[in-house]
Amino acid sequence: MVEITQENNKELYQCEECGFHYQDKTTAEKCEAWCKEHKSCNIEITSHAEENKQKVNN
Ligand SMILES: [Zn+2]
Repeated sequence: MVEITQENNKELYQCEECGFHYQDKTTAEKCEAWCKEHKSCNIEITSHAEENKQKVNN
């Protein structure tokens, strides 16, 4: 199950398998499905994670 977390008043969705946070639930679910099946991360998906994004807003 994807976890909803709060960060800086912003809701993020966390993949329970790898722990990365995503702004969008669909991506988090995709990540979790991939992580469970492959026991590793998909770079295409994890590149969308908050942890791997450059903070260009503001
Ligand atoms: Zn994951």
